[in-house]
Amino acid sequence: MKAIIIGAPGAGKGTYASRLQQKLGVEVIATGDIFRELAKQDSDIARKVKGFMEKGLLVPDEVVIEVLKQRLRNIPKGKSFILDGYPRTLDQAKMLDAITKIDVILLLDVPDWIIIERLSTRRICRNCGTVYNVRFLKPHIEGICDKCGGPLYQRSDDNEEVIKKRLQVYQEQTKPLLEYFKQKKLPFVTSSTTSLDQPPEPIVDKLTAELKKLELA
Ligand code: AMP
Repeated sequence: MKAIIIGAPGAGKGTYASRLQQKLGVEVIATGDIFRELAKQDSDIARKVKGFMEKGLLVPDEVVIEVLKQRLRNIPKGKSFILDGYPRTLDQAKMLDAITKIDVILLLDVPDWIIIERLSTRRICRNCGTVYNVRFLKPHIEGICDKCGGPLYQRSDDNEEVIKKRLQVYQEQTKPLLEYFKQKKLPFVTSSTTSLDQPPEPIVDKLTAELKKLELA
C-alpha cells in the first residue's frame, strides 16, 4: 500500500499514521518530523527551514522534494508506506506522480473549531514523538510519555497566531490537491470527526477496515 494521509494541521495525521504503522507494519514518512529534526542543526538550511516553520509557512518545494526523494529511496522495494504531510502543493504532488504510483488517499476531515482547540492543547513526546492532548488524550502521568517515559513538550508552531496561518496555508495551497487526486481517480478513505473528545482507536479501526475492503491492508 502506498498511501497519502491528508488533512488540516491538527486533523490527526501523525496520530493515525503512527497507529496504522504499528497495526499494519507500514513505513511512515512524516515531512514535518524530518524538518523539525533538521531545524535543530546549526546550518544555513536549518535556520531557513526553522524560519518558515515558525511562521506557519511551507518550506520551499525544491527543499521538500529533495528530502522526500531521499527518504523514498530508503524504503525497501515493495514495502508499504504512508506519506504524512506530503504533498502539500501541486508541484509536490506532480513530483510524486513522476516517481511512484499512490494507491489511496486517507482523508481526515475535521472542522476548524476542533483543530484550533486540539492544537493549542497538544503535547508531543520529545523522545518518541507520540502525540497527547492535555484535555482529551492525557498521558497517565502529567508531562510524561506513557510509552517511553520521555518528556512532553508543546510545538513552537502550536500557538494561536501560527495555527491560524497554518490553517490558511492548508486551505489555499493543500486543500486544492483533493480535487487533483479525485481527477486522477484515486480511491479516498475518509474519516470525519465531529466531536472534540473523539478517541483515535475507532477511527484507526475504521480506516483499517476500509483499507481491507480495497485489499490494501
Ligand atoms: P507538520 O508537522 O506536518 O504540521 O509540519 C510542520 C511544518 O513543517 C509545516 O508547517 C511546514 O512549515 C513544514 N512542512 C512539513 N511538510 C511540508 C511539505 N510537504 N511542504 C512544505 N512544508 C512542509
